[in-house]
Amino acid sequence: MSSANVVIVGAGIGGLNCARALAQPRYKDNINVTLIQGGPCEYHAGLIPVLLGQRPASDFRLTMPKGDFTFVSGVVNRIEEGRVYLADGTEFEADAIVLSPGLTLLKSSIPGAHGIWSLSNAEKVCPFVLSLLDSVKGPRVAIVIEKLPIRCPPAPYGLAIRLANMGASVSVFSPESYPVGVAGREVGEFVLRRCHENYVNVILDAKIDFDKSNENVIYASGRQYDFDLILAVQAHVSPQFLRDFDLTSVNLEGPSAYSIPGFSSVWVIGDSLPAQLPKAAGVAEAQGRTVASLVLKHLGIENTFSYVYPTPSCFLSEQENVYSLIKLDFGKGPLGSRPVSVEIRGPSAQLSTSFEQAIENWRRLVIQE
Ligand SMILES: Cc1cc2nc3c(=O)[nH]c(=O)nc-3n(C[C@H](O)[C@H](O)[C@H](O)COP(=O)(O)OP(=O)(O)OC[C@H]3O[C@@H](n4cnc5c(N)ncnc54)[C@H](O)[C@@H]3O)c2cc1C
Repeated sequence: MSSANVVIVGAGIGGLNCARALAQPRYKDNINVTLIQGGPCEYHAGLIPVLLGQRPASDFRLTMPKGDFTFVSGVVNRIEEGRVYLADGTEFEADAIVLSPGLTLLKSSIPGAHGIWSLSNAEKVCPFVLSLLDSVKGPRVAIVIEKLPIRCPPAPYGLAIRLANMGASVSVFSPESYPVGVAGREVGEFVLRRCHENYVNVILDAKIDFDKSNENVIYASGRQYDFDLILAVQAHVSPQFLRDFDLTSVNLEGPSAYSIPGFSSVWVIGDSLPAQLPKAAGVAEAQGRTVASLVLKHLGIENTFSYVYPTPSCFLSEQENVYSLIKLDFGKGPLGSRPVSVEIRGPSAQLSTSFEQAIENWRRLVIQE
C-alpha cells in the first residue's frame, strides 16, 4: 500500500504538535507529512518582553522547523477536499488536511493607537514605549482590547502591570464584563486583584469612542480620558481562506472532533477554532495531538483514537523576572459543560524559570534538538 499524504497548514503550536505526533519513526512507511508555513515560526508570548525592550524578537523567531516531515514555506489561500493550494499556484494532494493557521490581526480602528498584538508590531512599537518612559514622568498609557476573543486573554493585563511597574499610569479598557471571562470567575478576580495592587485602572464593559482631531483622547461610557500613548490589542479574525467555512458547528469531542462539517478529511484546530476555550498554546497543543490520533484512525493506521484534554498554562508578567501562572484543567467530560479546575501560583521570581522553560519547549518543538 502506498503511503498517505497528510498536509498540515501552520507551523504554530497546534500544527507543530500535530506534525510531531504523526512524523514518528513507527509511521514512516505509512505517512508522508507536509507542513506548510507562511513566514517565520514565532512564539507569541515573547511579545511583551520584546515590546518592553527586554529581549530581542530573534529570541522568539525561528525560520525553519526541522523534523521527519517535508517543510514548505508558502501561504495557503484555498482548501478543498483532498487538495491544498498555495498563493504561488503550487498544489498539494492530501489524504488528510489539518488546518492550524491561528488568527490574523486587523489594523487598529483607534486613530493614533499603536496596534501591538504580534511580535512584529511589538518590535516596531518598542522604541516609542521606551522613549516615552524615558522622557515623561508617569506617562499615561491606555491598553485597549478592541474586540474579543484575543490570543492569551490575561496577557494585556500583564502588560499593563509591567508598564505600571516601569513608572507609567496605566488604564486597560476591555469590552468584557469581567476579565478573562473564558477562564471563569476565579481567574478574573485574580487578574483584577493583581491590577489593583499594581495601580492599574481597569475599565470593563468599555464602549470606546474617539475624537479624530485629538488622537490622544478616548471616550468610554460617557467619560473622556487623555493619554500620552494608546496601545491597541487589535481585533483578531480568521485567515481569509478559512472564512468560507462554517467553523461554529465544529464538534470539540468524539470521533468527529475538530472535523469541518461537510468534509470527510479536513480538521481545524488551535486559535482558528471559534470555540468557548481560551486562545492558548496548551489548547492548540492538545488539539494538535488529538487530531493526529484521529487522522491515524481515519487513515486506518490505528484502530482507536485518544483524546487529549486541554490543560493550558498562562504567564502573567508583573516585573522583568516576576510572573504569576494561571493553569486551567479542562479535565474529562464534555467540554464547556463542567467547571474548569484552576490553579494560580505567584507572583514569584521562581516562575521566571518556568517562563524560560516554556520558551525552550517551544524552541525544541520547532527544531527538535
Ligand atoms: C502576548 C501573548 C502571550 C501569550 N502567552 C501565552 C501563554 O503564556 N500561555 C499559552 O498557553 N498561550 C499563550 N499565548 C497564546 C498562544 O501563543 C496561542 O494560543 C497559540 O500560539 C495558538 O497556536 P495555533 O497553532 O493555533 O496558532 P499560531 O501559533 O498562531 O500558529 C499559526 C501559524 O500559521 C501560520 N499561517 C497563518 N496563515 C497561514 C497561511 N495562509 N498559510 C500558511 N501558514 C499560515 C502563521 O504564520 C503561524 O505560524 C500568548 C499569545 C500572546 C499574543
